[in-house]
Amino acid sequence: MDIVYRYGKTYYINMTNRCPCRCVFCVRNGTRSLGDAECLWLDRDPTPEEIIAELSARDLSESKEIVFCGYGEPTERLEDLLTTAKMIKGRLGKDVRLDTNGLGDLINGRDIVPELAECVDRVSVSLNASSPEEYLEVTRSRFGIGSYDAVLAFISKCRKSIPGVAVSIVGGSIPPESEEECFRIAERLGVPLRVRRCLLRRLSGPDVQSPVLRFSIVATNVL
Ligand code: SF4
Repeated sequence: MDIVYRYGKTYYINMTNRCPCRCVFCVRNGTRSLGDAECLWLDRDPTPEEIIAELSARDLSESKEIVFCGYGEPTERLEDLLTTAKMIKGRLGKDVRLDTNGLGDLINGRDIVPELAECVDRVSVSLNASSPEEYLEVTRSRFGIGSYDAVLAFISKCRKSIPGVAVSIVGGSIPPESEEECFRIAERLGVPLRVRRCLLRRLSGPDVQSPVLRFSIVATNVL
């Protein structure tokens, strides 16, 4: 199991496979590895000390930041995420970025942004959709229809207390007019929107009736 992996020049941490979503485009559906990792499915969640040991064994000189990402939602392990982030900044002298689905408040049952702001320099939030209904259809979040508003609120709070905040959608996963609406939503939130370009394998079957395209990601060029 790989708990640290390199993608391009950047190093990523794979803390957990837990996630409240089952996104139709999740990269986990199509491949077990990314970057220089062999398998991102974990036998168990690694400890902060194990993560730091793995990072310390790598040449991080070209990695301008260390990113919490991986095959799961990092805020599922909030306490260990915070501990590890503080160790990265204190011991390794690196900036920290969190790639998240933005559902951390619902996962942890409280506002987690003040804690993140203490040790996270940048946050990239998966916006994914232009409405609560579309979001639920794309992500199949276990938190239901309220998930999208929770993500928007999370982004707004991050914007006020974390230096770098960006949002993303997966290009082609929602209709073009929804993508355009996502740009307007990001503008209203005051954050840049990045369209992640992926090589998609379209799925067939009854789901093709849906306005949301069904597919799995075969490869992605941007995390
Ligand atoms: S939130 Fe991320 S890890 Fe979870 S199912 Fe969606 S794409 Fe996969």
